[in-house]
Amino acid sequence: MSISIQGVTKRYVRRVAPGSPPSVTTALDDVDLDIEAGQFVSLLGPSGCGKTTLLRMIAGLVQIDEGRIMVGGKAVDSPRRDLCMVFQSPSLLPWRNVLDNVAFPLELDGMPKAQRHQTARQFLRLVGLDAFAEHLPHELSGGMQQRVGIARGLVRNPAVLLMDEPFGALDAQTRETLQADLLRIWDQTKCTIVFVTHSIDEALMLSDRIVVLKPRPGRINRIIGPAFRADRL
Ligand code: ADP
Ligand code: ADP
Repeated sequence: MSISIQGVTKRYVRRVAPGSPPSVTTALDDVDLDIEAGQFVSLLGPSGCGKTTLLRMIAGLVQIDEGRIMVGGKAVDSPRRDLCMVFQSPSLLPWRNVLDNVAFPLELDGMPKAQRHQTARQFLRLVGLDAFAEHLPHELSGGMQQRVGIARGLVRNPAVLLMDEPFGALDAQTRETLQADLLRIWDQTKCTIVFVTHSIDEALMLSDRIVVLKPRPGRINRIIGPAFRADRL
């Protein structure tokens, strides 16, 4: 699915005390960005430039003040099942085994147990953890837990995968393994991926397009990219 971000502005307004003047942070100012279906885009930029805000707005988790975001031709105004967000920490349910964690979104959908387990197994296989289906999350390493989180995100076959520094908390070797996993997943699912990172190396290694969010005088945090675009060889 394609993503079209059109003139999007986001301001956070905070009132420190009742009656005091509000403090306003402009997180994004009139941002335009078009992402083609099936593209793997990395969103790069210094801390505080609005990357997470933009990703959460695409996911329908943060309200848009001005402009609009279209995903697959439909405006986003609330969380949608065809969009999946993966965070830095996977927040697995500790008392449920790996299989039931991956199957959880399908359980919420009311899918019968046998069917959701079968589907969940398929996605555990995709992330290389089918041998760990019966384990509890705490029995797995951090990298393996993050893979469970990715499998859970993919289990509803989303057309768009939104990832907010998903490997930021992992050591270098684990990160490399997961990066390779992700490329394989992208290849197999053909989903559109928007990947927030502040590592240029990671962006270069993974994505076929890099978009830079950068503060500019007068136009705070406006997207000035695509600064670079390359096809994978
Ligand atoms: P990044 O992900 O690039 O670090 P964020 O989207 O997290 O940037 O933040 C962009 C700006 O908006 C920052 O100045 C941040 O302090 C501010 N901000 C983010 N979330 C909130 C919030 N819930 N309330 C107030 N300000 C926020
Ligand atoms: P982290 O990713 O947190 O470093 P790894 O994924 O590298 O952890 O795995 C940690 C340990 O778990 C490794 O020693 C490895 O033997 C084991 N492990 C990880 N994934 C699998 C797997 N798919 N099958 C069997 N063992 C695995």
